[in-house]
Amino acid sequence: MDDRRDGPPADGTGPEPIPSVDPSLSPVQQVHGRYRAHSETCPKCRDIDRGRCEAGEELWRDWTAACDEAYRRLHGGAR
Ligand SMILES: [Zn+2]
Repeated sequence: MDDRRDGPPADGTGPEPIPSVDPSLSPVQQVHGRYRAHSETCPKCRDIDRGRCEAGEELWRDWTAACDEAYRRLHGGAR
């Protein structure tokens, strides 16, 4: 069991812009920043109708996994 707490509660869906990947950000913010940075420069990921490229897909999965983890911590770890 790993119940260490690191960083503030991740909101995951915060509207604040993320200029670049900062190591002090929460994991969710980091992966989201990476995904956003990629999708802004990748023409395929930018066009939602064309789906995502392999790298975009991987970043997307990382992000949803991190969101999932943060969500579980928020709702499962609060007592
Ligand atoms: Zn891409």
